[in-house]
Amino acid sequence: MLPDVQKLLDLQEIDREILDLKSQLARYPVVWEETKKRMAQRKADHEAARKRLEDNLDQRRRKEQRIKNWLTDLQRSQTRLSLSKTEKEYQAANKELEKIREKLQKEEEDVNLLVEEASRREEEEVEERGKLEEFKEFYLSERQRIRSQFNEKKARVAELDRERAARAERVPDDLRHLYERVHKMHPGSAVVPVRGASCTGCHYSLLPDVMVTLHRGDELVICPNCGRILAYDEEFVPEEQDAAVS
Ligand SMILES: [Zn+2]
Repeated sequence: MLPDVQKLLDLQEIDREILDLKSQLARYPVVWEETKKRMAQRKADHEAARKRLEDNLDQRRRKEQRIKNWLTDLQRSQTRLSLSKTEKEYQAANKELEKIREKLQKEEEDVNLLVEEASRREEEEVEERGKLEEFKEFYLSERQRIRSQFNEKKARVAELDRERAARAERVPDDLRHLYERVHKMHPGSAVVPVRGASCTGCHYSLLPDVMVTLHRGDELVICPNCGRILAYDEEFVPEEQDAAVS
């Protein structure tokens, strides 16, 4: 292989690692946003459960107050009944008394239903609170994990950038410019090995004279189809041979 091509492969090795790290780095904000959304949902679920329980207690308090009022009315009505002097007065007081008893019964039934419902509402609130607490723990550890991994990877990229600059300096200018151009078009695969007389970048079958030049290793060869820089892979073992060995 042309020695300069080996230098490009060394450069590409770093570029691949940088590309991989950068794509991982780009994922972190997405993962974090997702975690924040889930946290907000947990909070909203708990808040809704808390609100339902509070509403239940409010309604109950209001109804219990109304029951007290009806009981006062009931007493007043009973007094009226006992003091009634005529049949007409008696009938009117009795009718009113019945009405109050009906209302009272209805309110009491409602309160009983609300009491039953309250235990379910309490359970729901406890459950949602538990889920929220559990998620909070995950949220905090996730924040810690993302922060430290993000910073670690960012520092590694900075380190690789320095190493890359050093490796790039070892490559002649014109070749480096060519590499940068191809790398832009084919990130991470500007230089590809040739296997089975094909460019492994685009699977284009190379003509015999191209293979001869590659073999000779004294000239830079570009894939006529995709424009990638070709590297003759001396250590390549075709699959059949590989199978025969094992
Ligand atoms: Zn190609």
